[in-house]
Amino acid sequence: MTLPAFQSEVFRTARGTPYLKSAGVVMIGYTKFDLSGARPFLAGFGDELRFEDYLDDPVTLQDAEALMKFCGQLCYLSLGQKRSWNKDAATYFRNIKESKHGSVLEHASFNFLIYGADRAFTHELVRHRSGVAYSQVSQRYVDGSVLRFVERREYQSDPELHARFETWIDLARAEYNERATILMARQQEGLEVLQGEKARDLRKKVNQAARSCLPNEVEAPICFTANLRALRHIVEMRADKPADIAIRDVAFKLYLCAEQMSSNLFSDYERVNLPDGVPAVTTPYRKV
Ligand SMILES: Cc1cc2nc3c(=O)[nH]c(=O)nc-3n(C[C@H](O)[C@H](O)[C@H](O)COP(=O)(O)OP(=O)(O)OC[C@H]3O[C@@H](n4cnc5c(N)ncnc54)[C@H](O)[C@@H]3O)c2cc1C
Repeated sequence: MTLPAFQSEVFRTARGTPYLKSAGVVMIGYTKFDLSGARPFLAGFGDELRFEDYLDDPVTLQDAEALMKFCGQLCYLSLGQKRSWNKDAATYFRNIKESKHGSVLEHASFNFLIYGADRAFTHELVRHRSGVAYSQVSQRYVDGSVLRFVERREYQSDPELHARFETWIDLARAEYNERATILMARQQEGLEVLQGEKARDLRKKVNQAARSCLPNEVEAPICFTANLRALRHIVEMRADKPADIAIRDVAFKLYLCAEQMSSNLFSDYERVNLPDGVPAVTTPYRKV
């Protein structure tokens, strides 16, 4: 299966500084579901209850939905003939949302790579603590050779702001590299605060000082995992009109990916077009 992805092109200033104009959101993983090992458990309740038939539902759901539905139905051992069948999954998930039985949604997670998004964006994203995991590029371990920047949407069609952006990121990259060179020289001269035991520590001491001149516009690639309860909450908070358009753009793309991988769970979201060109979503079932 090809996982959903929104890619982002890399541009360069005349002096060669790389930058991106929109966020790349790439789904890189999802929770798989395989109930076959549970056959003895289901059969163990006796032939008359026919729990084992659960494995032979004629309608196959997407992995996340099949997993969440089974976990929810286990709560009431609602596994026999009178259960909600997969063909009624839309109704099942609407009931989950209406009753705010959101803990069931925590069983499935989606994993994303987000790139072409800046440090201001990641600072907002990582405020979401519950049900998530992050791995973000370390500005201490990487050096100037991988620096890229992100041009805000407001600048892209404005010649003056666009020119200022390009000039600024050229300057920022040059300043970073010059500071790193000077810091390296100071380190070799023996400056105490820059010393370290291993070669890796020495590089880290230089990078961690040099990065202080980088602007919010520096790209900050991040791997982001969220269980589907947390993902819904984040989409609702961030693909919302008051949110900064940079995080709204990512949140809307996260929603589109999630909707492709769990159409019943995200079917309540409605797209709202906004004048700034980055859509929002609304739902009657906020924060399940
Ligand atoms: C438009 C907008 C503007 C914002 N402006 C600012 C700002 O100016 N300054 C600023 O500092 N932040 C700002 N924020 C960030 C905001 O305050 C939250 O920190 C952020 O959105 C994370 O959401 P959350 O608190 O729901 O946390 P999440 O980690 O997403 O948690 C989900 C839910 O779990 C529960 N939960 C999580 N952790 C705890 C806990 N420790 N104790 C009890 N319950 C918990 C809560 O019910 C919470 O809503 C802004 C956010 C938005 C969307």
